[in-house]
Parts: sequence; structure tokens; C-alpha cells
Amino acid sequence: MPNLKCHDHTCDHNYCTHCTKRGIQVSNTAYCRSYEKRREDDSKIAQWEFEFASDMPFSLNTDEHEVFCNADTCRHYDNMKCTVHHLRVDKKSVGPKCINYIKKY
Ligand code: SF4
Ligand code: SF4
Repeated sequence: MPNLKCHDHTCDHNYCTHCTKRGIQVSNTAYCRSYEKRREDDSKIAQWEFEFASDMPFSLNTDEHEVFCNADTCRHYDNMKCTVHHLRVDKKSVGPKCINYIKKY
């Protein structure tokens, strides 16, 4: 499972670059489909989710995530899985995008 850091702080699931979702979906153009725009009154939810996940006895590493990817043109794609160990999502003008995407030859 990739270790994920996300730099889109407008997402409801982002807490200080941690993604609080256990798994994320990535589109065929490498955008995060699990993004949900943060509302003002939700500002503390990601923090609670992250702290709760950190406290769970079976929590080994809260930055390890299942990544279900549809970008089959990416060099790191393997049957809906991502083979990268350290994945990064950045905020782009049209949404959060996986910056580890590399087009296959
Ligand atoms: S944009 Fe995606 S990777 Fe980033 S915090 Fe939201 S769900 Fe997680
Ligand atoms: S690196 Fe490639 S395979 Fe992994 S999530 Fe990003 S686009 Fe998908």
C-alpha cells in the first residue's frame, strides 16, 4: 500500500497533508475521485478522523492507503493498484492530482 501525502487542503479528508480516508479512487486522468470539498462547519472533522485512526490498536501507519487507480496509461499502474511506495497528491486548478503519474512508453 502506498504511503500518501496530499497537499489539497480544500478537501474534507485532508488533515495537515494526511488523508483520513483508508482508500482513495484515482481517475483515468490521475485525479483523486475521493475528493470532497470542505465546508466551513466541517473544519474539525478531518482532525477527529485522523486522531481516531491514530488511536486504533490495529493502526500501523495512518499514511498507508489502498489506492484504486484507473490510470492504466501510467507506468506505476498494475491491475487497478499503484506500485509507488510514496505517493503525492497536489492541488491543481481542476482538482487534486497524483503527481507520480508517468506515461507509459
Ligand atoms: S483529495 Fe483525495 S487524497 Fe487528498 S485528502 Fe482528499 S480524498 Fe485524500
Ligand atoms: S502513480 Fe500512477 S498508478 Fe499510482 S495512483 Fe498515480 S496515476 Fe495511479
